[in-house]
Amino acid sequence: MLADLFTQANNGPRMTKPIVCKFGGSSVADADQIRKIRDIVQGDPDRRFVVVSAPGRSASGEHKVTDHLINIATAGAHFRDQRLDLTPAHSRNAVIDKFARIIKGLGIDGEEILGALKRDLDTDLADDRRTAFLASRGEHYNARVIAEFFRSCELDAQACLPEEFGLRVTRDFLDAKVLPEAYENMAALDAETGICIIPGYYGVTEADEVAVFSRGGSDLTGGDLAYALEAQTYENWTDVSGVFEADPGVIPEARAIPRLTFKEIRLLSSKGFNVFHLNAMLRCKERKIPINIRNTNSPDALGTVILNERVPEEGIVGIARLDNMAYIYLQKDMLGEEVGFTASLLTIFQDFGINTYHYPTDKDDIAVLVDQDDLLGSINDLRRSIEKKLKPDFMDVVYNLSIITPVGLGLKGNSYPIVDALGALGEAHIPIEMIDQAPSQICFHIGINQAVADDALRILYDKLIKEAI
Ligand code: ASP
Repeated sequence: MLADLFTQANNGPRMTKPIVCKFGGSSVADADQIRKIRDIVQGDPDRRFVVVSAPGRSASGEHKVTDHLINIATAGAHFRDQRLDLTPAHSRNAVIDKFARIIKGLGIDGEEILGALKRDLDTDLADDRRTAFLASRGEHYNARVIAEFFRSCELDAQACLPEEFGLRVTRDFLDAKVLPEAYENMAALDAETGICIIPGYYGVTEADEVAVFSRGGSDLTGGDLAYALEAQTYENWTDVSGVFEADPGVIPEARAIPRLTFKEIRLLSSKGFNVFHLNAMLRCKERKIPINIRNTNSPDALGTVILNERVPEEGIVGIARLDNMAYIYLQKDMLGEEVGFTASLLTIFQDFGINTYHYPTDKDDIAVLVDQDDLLGSINDLRRSIEKKLKPDFMDVVYNLSIITPVGLGLKGNSYPIVDALGALGEAHIPIEMIDQAPSQICFHIGINQAVADDALRILYDKLIKEAI
């Protein structure tokens, strides 16, 4: 501590690497939430970099600020596509009103910030540049508001804006990618003395035009910043206490998993499991920076830490579930001997823009698993195309499948959990439609009818996780 004070006082290099914390939309949704952030940041002097999202929903029925901003940019089409009748004028008021309420709730002087926001909303930019600029304003003004609030609490804090420090990105205005020089500029922020509040989700092109990342992109800003600063940890603060062993909606007693590897979280990430932007991990993985998923509303919970490596203490660590899947089954004599059959089949899916998940094969048959929604409007033509090009002897489509995937590093070289899983489902008379062991051997997939998926998940949780405790 003394050494730390000494080096700081001499403006020498810092002794400890910083913690980069990113707060998602729900964590910055209103003044009360922002006060929680202040307490969290104050709780550890290493939390020197704070990446913020735009304000999310604070009440049910409310929409996220970013959605309102995109609605303004798209002349109302954004909400119309979701069958909501909200005009751009309504969205404009909603954005201004949201920031005005936050500013009032925090008790800061926000006249200047609100004036600048209103001017930005009337930008004369056009096309994608306009959409990107408007979409970025939620993060931009939130960072400025939060920095102002921190200062009003006697904290040494400032907004560090991508347009000022040079978070350089490509000219793909609505799906920008970070350019190498951005990392140097981000690393240079380490010299700042106080707390840097950084708006997530956007950067600037070489011509200083704003370009946004894909939706949920504040996670990317946080991950890139953690990488550039070689942070000790990237804390991702959200509204859940980490990654759960199974969907808590079905298994209320499911606990947050304390440690997971990057590989495991990839396998666990399915619709119900998506707690953050997975691309944000890649940079952290490269430098072995742990990512800690934490809950702003329950700051004492330790959450889940995602690491490059961990000790596999248990067989199964969590169970993922992917609903609404379908498989297309083909049978053809001598299929296995026909060179290029699988490639031709997958090319047909590619031509239809359909992502394929698993494809178990055998001598004379193959099944391809897809997201059922991807077949909407195209199954008829897809089947026709397969019949014409590959002439199968038989073809069938099975709908409404759930793929349940137990995951754990401890599965490698230990097949007992697979036996246990199948035995437990058998005892409960739950028919299995498909089994597939992943090549990595750290997970396996069981396909069952969606109607019994809740029961199956409960049985597998009890057998593979609860009994193993
Ligand atoms: N505000 C942006 C969005 O809603 C980015 C983010 O929150 O990460 O997608």
